Amino acid sequence: MLNIVLFGPPGAGKGTQSQRLIEKYDLVHLSTGDIFRANIGGNTELGKLAKSYIDKGQLVPDEVTINMLGSEVKKHPDAKGFIFDGFPRTKAQAGALDELMSEIGSSITAMIALDVPEEELKQRLKKRAEDSGRSDDADPKVIANRIEVYKNETAPVKSYYQEQNKFYSIDGLGAISEITDRMFDTVEQIK
Ligand code: AMP
Repeated sequence: MLNIVLFGPPGAGKGTQSQRLIEKYDLVHLSTGDIFRANIGGNTELGKLAKSYIDKGQLVPDEVTINMLGSEVKKHPDAKGFIFDGFPRTKAQAGALDELMSEIGSSITAMIALDVPEEELKQRLKKRAEDSGRSDDADPKVIANRIEVYKNETAPVKSYYQEQNKFYSIDGLGAISEITDRMFDTVEQIK
């Protein structure tokens, strides 16, 4: 299996690049943010709980997120591999993901990080708020909070994969297709 963790701060382009990876390598895309938003749209209990955190730019608690991700993975027993987009966001989630992968007889192949400077991220999120209608992109205070949470809780996840020699970083600036080419080059090296 090819199991990739796509990593990067809000606005780095994880969603866009995931789309291209799943098409080329026939992978299942699991975006925890998308799954939470679908639950919010469906007004489920999980959605109501997630919304209370997402609206403030905080992380949904680990236990809730890990359980949800586990049941999503198990819905795809015949998958050729997975792209994890927006997960893991804490070291506890990274540990849980390794356990989950070993339960299905597999492992994480690599973490690929999209490297984008903070000023550019803020510009992109502002633009995305106009196009996508995501309320957590529209409020500068919520954006600032998400970037803070990223620095404090999520950035350390990088070292988890570096210690296992599974960390790869690519330049996330430039045309979308150029970034995709860099990603494909990296995947071809590691698969
Ligand atoms: P995203 O679409 O990945 O930017 O996620 C939107 C929001 O969903 C985040 O700001 C968090 O509140 C929540 N979220 C998404 N993924 C996770 C995760 N792995 N752990 C905790 N909260 C998450």
